[in-house]
Amino acid sequence: MPVSRWIRHALFLLAVPVAGMAAAHAEAARTPAQAAEMLERADQVKHADFDGFTHLLQDAAPMRAQMDAATATKLAFLEGWRATWVGDFDKGRGLLESVADTSPDAVLRVRALATLINLFGVSHRYEDAFRRLNQMQELLPSIRDARARFAALGEASQLLSSAGQFDAAEAYAKQMVDQPPEDETECKGMQHLLRARSEANRLVSIDPEYQRAIVSCDKAGDTVFADTMRADIGSFYLRHGQPRAAIDLLEPHRDDLRDTSYATLLAEFDASLASAYLAMDDLANARRYALSAVAGSVRDEFTDPKRTGFKVLYEVEQRLGNAQAALNYHEQYMAADKAYLDDISARSLAFQIVDQQVVARKAEVDALNKKNEILRLSNALDKKEVETGRLYIFVLGLCLVGIVALVLRLRRSQLRFMRMARRDGLTGICNREHFVEQSERVLAYGARSDRGACLILFDLDHFKNVNDTWGHSVGDEVLKRAVDVCRRALHACDVFGRLGGEEFAVLLPDCSPAQARARAEQLRLSISATSATPSRPELLVTASFGVASTLQCGFELHRLLVVADGALYRAKRSGRNCVFMGDSGDIPDSPYPVAASG
Ligand code: GH3
Ligand code: MG
Ligand code: MG
Repeated sequence: MPVSRWIRHALFLLAVPVAGMAAAHAEAARTPAQAAEMLERADQVKHADFDGFTHLLQDAAPMRAQMDAATATKLAFLEGWRATWVGDFDKGRGLLESVADTSPDAVLRVRALATLINLFGVSHRYEDAFRRLNQMQELLPSIRDARARFAALGEASQLLSSAGQFDAAEAYAKQMVDQPPEDETECKGMQHLLRARSEANRLVSIDPEYQRAIVSCDKAGDTVFADTMRADIGSFYLRHGQPRAAIDLLEPHRDDLRDTSYATLLAEFDASLASAYLAMDDLANARRYALSAVAGSVRDEFTDPKRTGFKVLYEVEQRLGNAQAALNYHEQYMAADKAYLDDISARSLAFQIVDQQVVARKAEVDALNKKNEILRLSNALDKKEVETGRLYIFVLGLCLVGIVALVLRLRRSQLRFMRMARRDGLTGICNREHFVEQSERVLAYGARSDRGACLILFDLDHFKNVNDTWGHSVGDEVLKRAVDVCRRALHACDVFGRLGGEEFAVLLPDCSPAQARARAEQLRLSISATSATPSRPELLVTASFGVASTLQCGFELHRLLVVADGALYRAKRSGRNCVFMGDSGDIPDSPYPVAASG
């Protein structure tokens, strides 16, 4: 699943502006020319010396009334930029919007738009962000200022990547790599390129060019960019079952990162390290890093490190047999997971909405122009030209029909997009978010009508070996095949979802534990009896199953998931390719009688 870290650079700049060499604090400007010169200097030092930058702004500001329009706009831009980086978004927005909408200087407009995009991204106002991105995209071809272009391309790439528009994000990042300003290296462009590719899940291996870029980031003092790339490469290793490689890459840089007070990236490192240690069964280190990932995440924000942290904590407690603690962490994990996924959907939806609004607006303007032309022609026709005129009107009418059809198609594609957002891209069944939503609805109905339900959780066995032996694309084929086989065995009212990787869940409404056990057994046999791909009949795959019932856990989904997960874990430990029922040890203080045991 693509993992977006949109707020990264913004928060970095929020967190470290203090590091700098504090330019000598000059006196307040006495002439407009002096003020203009101060603003030039402020612009140059704003990243390296935030305090000096702030002083220069304060010293130039008293001359505001005497400044010419260009200098006054520059002052507004820099004040807006500053307000954004210190987190005063209302003030920043007001100043930057006035520059973006009224400045006669196109370069300043692009710079204001780029900063606004960042501001809207950080404050989760994605529709505004995409609207401003559209304006910036229209201006960009005319911008010759290499630095302004470079910064704008970076913002565009980051926003598009965060909304799942990976091709466009990659194209912008490539432009950064190909045409950096004189004082830049390949560092930042490559970081954006790696981000777009890794979020699109398109990395097959770690190309040496990324390693070279990390070296050039480190050399240029852009350590945050270097560490951002390390974080992406670490996630790649984790996804490809190489936890040791992830630890070796991240751990040596983790403590330096702590000193930069760049909390967002540190939380990412910690979450990856926690997952890696969990995969290696080192529960103490897994817990240590997971606690740090959760504590270091921005409060009230639901980010990927936070949900990963809670998930690892849950699994650690589960493996240690601390059922109550496991349940608590699982609850927090579910909440963080849902909020995080909601944010991702909000971003993609905002992109689609703005994109379609732009096309629809163009189509409407076109339609209006055509209508006007038809009217004008009808009025101007003299009798002799009636015949040719009619033909022309007919053709224009056809265009109009075409445009209306386009608008309708756009509406339909928006609906299709909303449907797609609920499906897992590879297998076509419910994604995790939609599975949770559907299951909660079914369970609520079950609770009201007093009809028990069961949850089956299953996970393919030794699936990493399949990838390692046959390659990732065969692995994908195996996943699809397993899902097809199961689908045939399910009923129309069952909810079937991919929870992640090679782990799946089925919620069976109106079902007793004995029936659920039989159904799970049927799924197990179907998977193990079918060759995993038609092209490789010798490749056989099995799965392990855990089952939980509402008789045992009640109608709360997260309790069912915790109990089924405990049973699945025991199924794996007892040799795989088998079905285990949840038992009382999986859940603390259960008010329900234990129905069955594996
Ligand atoms: P176990 O029997 O204990 O479940 O062993 P396992 O190898 O199945 O489990 P592990 O969690 O170590 O490995 C799961 C692997 O699934 C690692 C990951 O690369 C792979 N995987 C996850 N999602 C996908 C996917 O979408 N496609 C492919 N091909 N592989 C995936
Ligand atoms: Mg597995
Ligand atoms: Mg698994």
